[in-house]
Amino acid sequence: MKFDWLIVGAGFTGSVLAERIASQLKQTVLIVEQRPHLGGNAYDYYDDHGVLVHQYGPHIFHTNAQYVWDYLAQFTQWRSYYHRVLAVVSGKLVPVPFNLNSLYALFPPRYADKLAQQLIEHYGFNVKVPILRIRDTASSDDLKLLAEYIYEHVFHHYTVKQWGLKPEELSPSVTARVPIYVSYDDRYFQDTFQGLPKQGYTRLFQNLLNHPNIKVLLNTSYQEVMQEIPYQRLIFTGQIDEFFEHLHGDLPYRSLHFKFIHTEQEQFQAVGTVNYPNEYTYTRTTEFKHLTGQREYGSTYIEEYPQPYRRGENLPYYPIPRDEYRALYKKYEAEAEKLKGRVFFAGRLADYQYYNMDQAVARALSLFEKEIVRSG
Ligand code: FAD
Ligand code: UDP
Repeated sequence: MKFDWLIVGAGFTGSVLAERIASQLKQTVLIVEQRPHLGGNAYDYYDDHGVLVHQYGPHIFHTNAQYVWDYLAQFTQWRSYYHRVLAVVSGKLVPVPFNLNSLYALFPPRYADKLAQQLIEHYGFNVKVPILRIRDTASSDDLKLLAEYIYEHVFHHYTVKQWGLKPEELSPSVTARVPIYVSYDDRYFQDTFQGLPKQGYTRLFQNLLNHPNIKVLLNTSYQEVMQEIPYQRLIFTGQIDEFFEHLHGDLPYRSLHFKFIHTEQEQFQAVGTVNYPNEYTYTRTTEFKHLTGQREYGSTYIEEYPQPYRRGENLPYYPIPRDEYRALYKKYEAEAEKLKGRVFFAGRLADYQYYNMDQAVARALSLFEKEIVRSG
């Protein structure tokens, strides 16, 4: 049988594209996925203790794009959830993103009052300011001191741990993901839509791919089958440099090692995630029951240990947002351009973009509407 489409990767990008092609164009799709499961990095499962955990680190869905939320709502119900994060700073638990409450958690009340007032006067209330911008624009001595304090105690060491680079060696968009928030809102995200799939991500993927026009081959890499499977067109959601056999050199990625720990305690920590910018070699601990709302006996949490990516040894979780790597990616993009109309590249690895899940879904929906439907 010849498939209309071969899709490489069963993460959000590949699965959404498969669903659209199968249900809207009525064409046939084969997905090949090298891992033993669906879902890419969003995969979840019940561990030996019956706790629903995320194999590749905590995944919280958040978006301002109602069409993305509504699209996925055809395949899952949502459980409403607001993620809250505390960071250990100078031995205290402090809300992150750093906000006005964080001032009061750290400093004597009168001094916190003074800083809060200056932040509001200088930047406005309910305004988000990236740390690198506050550092550049702080006008008073108090604000300068505060900016240095936050930079040093919240961002510097965490970023060096996570990326092996200092904040200013990365695209400013990285630390801007967690801006200083001149507000009393303690939530990690302020998006209009936030939550987790009620029955887990894996179930969401099973529903997305439950269509007679879609077949899935797990435990199968593209390279193993590329010569054998007949297909018309290809969508590739893996590493773009791997597709082109590293023609222009390796694109760098950052990897992680995850350690899962089960405890008999009802609750391990007060909120979903606790960040450790300055202590330990892991960056954060996440307790899944907060995210999923499960009420099992005992609890499972995860520690995340950043690692350099080594081809063949660990997985490429993060593209590294830096100008020089973007320039290298552009060389691969030029190669991809030569295959236009026959091979489509999309996703966190193929676009070499630090996408959140909603952005991966939006990218897939837009590729479908703008290029796939039109190309006939
Ligand atoms: P992926 O999920 O990486 O899927 C690509 C798939 O392709 C993989 O399954 C891979 O095995 C397969 N593949 C690659 N190459 C080949 C090949 N040659 N042959 C066969 N198969 C192949 N986003 C959020 O919105 N909220 C969060 O809270 C959040 N937390 C995150 C935490 C961590 C630790 C990480 C790493 C990411 C997090 N994300 C989060 C981002 C989220 O994981 C991505 O946005 C999403 O997974 C991107 O989907 P994708 O399909 O593009 O890529
Ligand atoms: N960051 C930090 N300290 C924190 C939280 C975040 O320095 O307490 C920086 C760090 O560089 C991190 C980036 O902000 O990589 C983005 O954080 P986010 O929580 O969005 O990372 P992700 O969930 O994607 O790993």
